[in-house]
Amino acid sequence: MSASLAERLRAGAVLGAEGYVFELERRGYIKAGPFVPEVVLDFPDAVRELHREFLRAGAEVMVALTYYAHREKLRDVGREGDLEAMNRQAVRIARQVAREGPDGGALVAGNVCNTWAYDPEDASTVQTVRAMYTEQLGWAADEGVDFVISETNDYLGEALIALEVIQDLGLPAMVTLAPTQPHRTRDGYEYADACRILAAEGAQVVGLNCDRGPRTMVPLIARIRDTVECAMAIQPVPYRTDAITPTMETLCSPKGERAFPVELDPFTCTRFDMAKFAVQARELGVEYVGICCGAGPHHVRAMAEALGREVPASRYSPSIELHPMFRAEVSAKDAAFLQSWNA
Ligand SMILES: [Zn+2]
Repeated sequence: MSASLAERLRAGAVLGAEGYVFELERRGYIKAGPFVPEVVLDFPDAVRELHREFLRAGAEVMVALTYYAHREKLRDVGREGDLEAMNRQAVRIARQVAREGPDGGALVAGNVCNTWAYDPEDASTVQTVRAMYTEQLGWAADEGVDFVISETNDYLGEALIALEVIQDLGLPAMVTLAPTQPHRTRDGYEYADACRILAAEGAQVVGLNCDRGPRTMVPLIARIRDTVECAMAIQPVPYRTDAITPTMETLCSPKGERAFPVELDPFTCTRFDMAKFAVQARELGVEYVGICCGAGPHHVRAMAEALGREVPASRYSPSIELHPMFRAEVSAKDAAFLQSWNA
């Protein structure tokens, strides 16, 4: 039997991998803009394949692709009638691939995110949001998940609604905030305080995900670590954000236009950047180390290997010394090539 989330967290860093929506958009299966995971019903094999790639790269959790598969978003693309089928199928696919993992398989996480329906100034939205989470997670629990990830939360208030729904289902909760602001959630809580409140309310894992790259997310870790005793999750985007442009939404193309969401490629972190992040996060006491929008399997494998693991995809990890140009003894013909590369 597969080890539980709590057991894995106690045993050392759990490696997570997300960014399904961005990657499947790049592959031509999701429309940028609405970012609704219609692919789950329209091209289930594409979802299965990406799960498999992350699993082979060392991900220990298969996150069901139900991000933005909620009532409001499906209404936007005219597929409200597919809501239940999409949510159930996403969990089934994740479960199927998780079973293929080593050591009894990977964990399966249900997934909800910010709804865009929540308004802290309008109490009536609480009911709307709760109803959306209740139906999504009801289907997830029914299909069978090991825990639930509530993520990219802009508001502590909305995150607490998700946490309550997860707990009502008797499932462990990992709740992470989207650090789009310098220090606080959109409803005014310092990230560390918001994490402390979520932990006090019973979340097993709290932390941050999305929006910031490693360079601007790592500095936020220490304060949260000092504030919470429960396990902590950090899942940055693999983009080179910096002090001037701390989030992927603030990065600009050379023409000065917003690069988010479909022109971020030139800012992509290398696998080495992400490997360095994984080690840094573990050293800072992060128990759930992951990656978000923009992730590719090569990032995940490099992170796994940096954490000292050998994973199925390690079979094909680079052996650059076997390249004809980089062998110890380069033939005379190839040496001429190399000279032209260096010219
Ligand atoms: Zn993300």
